[in-house]
Amino acid sequence: MPGSYKTEAVVLRSIRYGEADRVLHLYSATRGRIGAIAKGSRRPRSRFGGRLEPFFRLDLVLHEGRGELATVTSAHTVAAHARLRSSASALNAAARACDAVLRLLDSVDSNPPAYNLLCRYLTLLDGEESVGGDGAGDGAAGSAAALAFRLKLALAAGFAPELASCARCGEAEGLVAFSGAAGGAVCAACERDGFELSPEAHEFMVEALGRPLAAAPAASERALRQTERAVSETLEHHAHVRLRAAA
Ligand SMILES: [Zn+2]
Repeated sequence: MPGSYKTEAVVLRSIRYGEADRVLHLYSATRGRIGAIAKGSRRPRSRFGGRLEPFFRLDLVLHEGRGELATVTSAHTVAAHARLRSSASALNAAARACDAVLRLLDSVDSNPPAYNLLCRYLTLLDGEESVGGDGAGDGAAGSAAALAFRLKLALAAGFAPELASCARCGEAEGLVAFSGAAGGAVCAACERDGFELSPEAHEFMVEALGRPLAAAPAASERALRQTERAVSETLEHHAHVRLRAAA
């Protein structure tokens, strides 16, 4: 039904369109994914200023007409994440996170856990909370946070890997491998299409899912690589989505 509505949203992607417009891919608090056009937003004195860029968190008024895209009528900044933009590693992590949201969450239904997770991660990357207690998104702590984000995003999208018992037979002990097809950790008897999952990687995934994003545990490069493979293969098999590398 045509009409105007308000929502908070994060800009995932911002594309130049026509002579002076922008097309925005938004992830919103109240309506999930939204495509919108901001007319005249590239004119020098546009009332939108520079705030229709990726990673901005905005308070928006949108008008829904008959077309596929909503029209942005007003935009106010909730968080600009200016510090994030001055760090190459934080920018890169934010771009990968927004890309993962774009690929994995295309529903127009609201998903508050996914929206809040994205906002918390951007805040973390902006350095308002330190990643792993020792800096803003660099090194192993940065990759651990990036993978914790990806695991939690899979959970919010309904595709969390099964970790408590064998995803094929239900056995709780001796989980030695991971199978994307089975969607979780598997025991030695069921590991036919799986790859080796170290106890450290298994523990990292359990802990990362159980803790707030800002308290993601540290882990070795090997455990993080296994975690990334586990999440990627689960999403490929069950969500039919292929994500870019997490870090
Ligand atoms: Zn089994």
